[in-house]
Amino acid sequence: AQSKIEIIMTGPLMAYAADQLKARFIVHELWKEQDRAAALAAVKDRVRGVAGGGAHVRIDDALFDALPKLEVVSNFGVGYDNVDAVAAGKRGIIVTNTPDVLTDEVADLAIGLLLSTVRQLPQVDRYLRAGKWLQGAYPLTTSLRKRKIGIVGLGRIGKAVARRLEAFDVPIAYHGRSRQADVAYRYYPSLVEMAQDVDTLVSVAPGGESTYHIINAEVLKALGPNGIVVNVGRGTVIDEQALIEALKAKTILSAGLDVFEDEPRVPAELIAMDHIVLLPHVGSASVHTREQMGQLLVDNLVSWFDGKGPLTPVAETPWTKA
Ligand code: NDP
Repeated sequence: AQSKIEIIMTGPLMAYAADQLKARFIVHELWKEQDRAAALAAVKDRVRGVAGGGAHVRIDDALFDALPKLEVVSNFGVGYDNVDAVAAGKRGIIVTNTPDVLTDEVADLAIGLLLSTVRQLPQVDRYLRAGKWLQGAYPLTTSLRKRKIGIVGLGRIGKAVARRLEAFDVPIAYHGRSRQADVAYRYYPSLVEMAQDVDTLVSVAPGGESTYHIINAEVLKALGPNGIVVNVGRGTVIDEQALIEALKAKTILSAGLDVFEDEPRVPAELIAMDHIVLLPHVGSASVHTREQMGQLLVDNLVSWFDGKGPLTPVAETPWTKA
């Protein structure tokens, strides 16, 4: 029999995916090692693949230097700001992610978070449980009615959010680096100008340098005192300190956040604000969708080592479909 190919797992993966990897490959569970450098050195001449679980470990030149036989990095998640895909590309290392299989789930969550923030659903639930209904009705909230939505990053998930929002009869605009050919929503090349014209931002933009802090103090000011910011993309897209200041000074109304700059650490100032809604990065976190993502992570590695190429290579990866 052919000897098994060796791979590294950089972080924990659900058993659904991990068990398939262990059946097919020899798997080294890197995050369990006390001395990571020594663990890497021991397998450096054999490891040909990496399965990236979560953003626990940066996958960059340091890891590529340590693994000279590395051919492929299969990332768990569509966002891969934890992977230096450009550096990988320069070495001819393939990087794959898990697009599409999570799009609807994350879009559903974005709508849920938007409505939860606007109508204060977690706060209203807490009110009832605290027995306060017996003393009187919950104060009236703001509304999605008459709101204008600006989507930051109208990609796969952004478009799925927009499609859902069409059913809510709210005007939709978007900002990104380029106009999307297949939609009729109003396009703003300038994020500040969009923020001036709308009162609700829904960010589904990826992380990384090009989106770092693009939702800054100026954008928040332009959004105005009725402004709501929802973020299901990446925490680094928002200047979190500027958001805290704007919320404290009430220069915007509220925020609904699924992602943060330094996860899993969430600033105490945000936690202390009772009127905003905070979720622990659960956008794709259903059994159904996490299994689909795990399967695609496994399938990318299997396809690569079967000589059939990667299934879902990222944009920076040196691979063109035959
Ligand atoms: P896509 O690549 O399909 O969409 C990304 C969009 O962002 C594109 O429309 C792109 O448009 C825009 N964009 C990229 N760079 C910039 C920039 N510098 N300024 C403004 N807009 C930009 O990705 P998906 O829709 O599949 O996923 C989006 C992101 O959602 C992921 O990268 C991930 O970070 C996040 N995510 C979060 C989850 C959660 O659990 N909360 C779950 C899954 C994903 P253009 O190129 O024209 O600028």
